Amino acid sequence: MEKVFAAYEDRKAILEASSNRFAQGVAWIEGELVPLHEARIPLLDQGFLHSDLTYDVPSIWDGRFFRLSDHLTRLSASCKKIRMALPLPQDEIMRILVEMAVKSGIRDAFVEVIVTRGLKGVRESRPEDIKNNLYMWVMPYVWVMEPSVQRTGGSAVVARTVRRVPPGSIDPIVKNLQWGDLTRGMHEAKDRGASYPFLTDGDANLTEGSGFNICFIKDRVLYTPDRGVLHGITRKSVFDACAVIGIEVRCEVVPVEIAYTSDEIFMCTTAGGIMPITELDGQAVNGGGVGPITKSIWDVYWGMHHDPTYSFEVAYDKLKGKL
Ligand SMILES: *Cc1c(COP(=O)(O)O)cnc(C)c1O
Repeated sequence: MEKVFAAYEDRKAILEASSNRFAQGVAWIEGELVPLHEARIPLLDQGFLHSDLTYDVPSIWDGRFFRLSDHLTRLSASCKKIRMALPLPQDEIMRILVEMAVKSGIRDAFVEVIVTRGLKGVRESRPEDIKNNLYMWVMPYVWVMEPSVQRTGGSAVVARTVRRVPPGSIDPIVKNLQWGDLTRGMHEAKDRGASYPFLTDGDANLTEGSGFNICFIKDRVLYTPDRGVLHGITRKSVFDACAVIGIEVRCEVVPVEIAYTSDEIFMCTTAGGIMPITELDGQAVNGGGVGPITKSIWDVYWGMHHDPTYSFEVAYDKLKGKL
């Protein structure tokens, strides 16, 4: 863990000293590249007016795109589910994202790709008149749980003032920004002196939290909810890591009770990776330290970022002069 974080801190210091105008982020808006903090969207886009959109968040780590085609394939499937289509072919999006990374020089990046319904809404328009919009940006890596906290673990609560929206209302498999329930959960977590909410399905089963999946380890078996959650790409990496280290995975209904009797708990998302939870509802989880299986999964997960099976190198230096 310390090696991974130390190398990252070194790269971050180099980026922060950069005079590149895109070093703090670059956005692609209607085909133009602009510094992220100057980027604007049209007010009448349905993505803004009705959150009528889907999106995805791939990442770049140490100059390598991680599972990018998994993210874009999920995005494309999400678009189909809500009767939209990627405004550009997948390989063209990939090419532009690489170009943005190269032009910004950002080697550890949080990358967001949003597809909105566009300027015409479903009610007042014929489907053939609707043109979906694409928005993208590349910015320095974002941590849902800071490295300093990952060393000892964060604190979570099982939310009791809000439940996760049911799949029959908003399909959680379509990554979305209808965060009303998740935002309420974050407020409750803060009110209760914790950092992260775990939401239930309203029937005493766990689902997920504000932008992350949740995993529980009990007697060397990993449990994670199968329903009411996004099928996270990080969760997929966790399954791959479990196969490597010989941990059985059960993706099934997870009763809330499991949270209180677990040996180890962690959250997982692209923005932060494997994030240990060592305090739940004000109580230490199994004594309070980061557990050994969480540590092994953490190590395998970050190792995967340099494995060509899961990642490819962004040719910063080679492409620099050519773009
Ligand atoms: C993005 C997200 C996750 C994590 O997905 P990854 O693909 O692992 O980044 C989990 N839950 C929700 C609600 C999300 O928005």
